[in-house]
Amino acid sequence: MGVPPDEVRGRVALRFGPRTLTYAALAGAAGAVAARVRDAGRVAVWATPELETAVAVTGVLLAGAAAVPLNPKSGEKELAHILSDSAPTLVLTPPGAELPPVFGDLTRIDVDASVTGTAPGEQAADGDPALVVYTSGTTGPPKGAVLPRRALATTLDALADAWQWTADDVLVHGLPPFHVHGLVLGVLGPLRRGGSVRHLGRFSTEGVVRELNDGATMMFGVPTMYHRIAEALPDDPELAGALARARLLVSGSAALPVHDHERIAAATGRRVIERYGMTETLMNTSVRADGEARAGTVGVPLRGVELRLVEEDGTEITAYDGESVGEIQVRGPSLFTAYLNRPDATAAAFTADGWFRTGDMAVREADGYVRIVGRKATDLIKSGGYKIGAGEIENALLEHPGVREAAVTGEPDADLGERIVAWIVPADPQAPPAAEELADHVAGRLAPHKRPRVVRYLESLPRNDMGKIMKRALADV
Ligand code: ATP
Ligand code: MG
Repeated sequence: MGVPPDEVRGRVALRFGPRTLTYAALAGAAGAVAARVRDAGRVAVWATPELETAVAVTGVLLAGAAAVPLNPKSGEKELAHILSDSAPTLVLTPPGAELPPVFGDLTRIDVDASVTGTAPGEQAADGDPALVVYTSGTTGPPKGAVLPRRALATTLDALADAWQWTADDVLVHGLPPFHVHGLVLGVLGPLRRGGSVRHLGRFSTEGVVRELNDGATMMFGVPTMYHRIAEALPDDPELAGALARARLLVSGSAALPVHDHERIAAATGRRVIERYGMTETLMNTSVRADGEARAGTVGVPLRGVELRLVEEDGTEITAYDGESVGEIQVRGPSLFTAYLNRPDATAAAFTADGWFRTGDMAVREADGYVRIVGRKATDLIKSGGYKIGAGEIENALLEHPGVREAAVTGEPDADLGERIVAWIVPADPQAPPAAEELADHVAGRLAPHKRPRVVRYLESLPRNDMGKIMKRALADV
């Protein structure tokens, strides 16, 4: 996280739209930020998808302080919560950014990437906080995860090992820079390797084509991006050609539907590899660049990550049979240290022997590959004596030509305990597939007890800024 080594100083580190910074220029610009934020403790960063965000976060890390990236699209209520929870001493913004009134009289520094300065010698320890990142808020109000410097370094080096990620890699980046995916993997990752980031500002398939045709080697995306790619591919041979050229296409933050994985593979000859992580743990597993990319799996534990599956009564599952479902628990140096101001939630998240409970349920296949079944809280449906994962039903529904998007939930049922409910966005709103037809389609592919009992039709699914389906919100639509 420090000053770049001499051999990369002339190289381009960052490109955001038409603006670029070499490593030497970034060291100067981040040095100027660092000189101003030394001893600042926690520093908020108004994380727009612009060059200044990358400079600001790099500068805070150089100073040995902790950055709190803020989502500029957050509502006032969420921002007020995050500001009072994290209590930053100042906020860094791109020049002239308009901040909402909720910032009050908090000191603000406009980051000018052309001003250079010298960092005040980095004195932070491995265990000192580097970032406070708020979780995506998919299952409840966002919690601030305190991530030590050690965690960032460990996870990025483990990914370099798994992905054969080097200084020659150029990343196409279209994700927001305030979560782990877009900030830690997408910005700090290439910088740690001495490679380059090209940020699209806003994701577009045109941007992906342009960058991959112009020397980019890898792309990180969320499943909604790969869904857009899968939908566009049949009419866009240029897109297929560009993707075929990429060294690595990586998906994460939510499950990549098997249907999209297979459509992309058929059109481009390339298989998207999936990695699985969380704000609290950083990255846990990935398909390796030299491994087999199998649809619907998130690969194997990364270097340094201890991973186990545990049944409800605490028994560890040792069988790699592809069937025994348990909660994923992890341990290792890439974990967060605490939820800010939430000692109760922090304590509840760990077992007595120090394993972090992810709340994600999974099975392991014979060769150790992890397959995520879903979240314990929202994706495991207890129906008629069975425990059924929402994910495989969603995957089956998405293979029906009349279905564009699908989410599956459980709902209380007098006979079954819970009944399976399918929420469908039809491909053609004028001619949605009949409930009976969809239920038969699922039963035929999976098993009769996995048949949705209720089908509800929507114009779109409620999603957050990472494109994750907010299952809590489905009950209210
Ligand atoms: P909150 O914790 O606020 O409810 P969140 O869990 O969505 O929100 P993140 O930390 O951004 O916040 O997301 C981590 C979660 O995303 C994981 O626990 C897992 O459920 C899901 N996830 C990440 N990568 C994958 C993947 N490749 N496949 C399936 N699920 C994934
Ligand atoms: Mg979570």
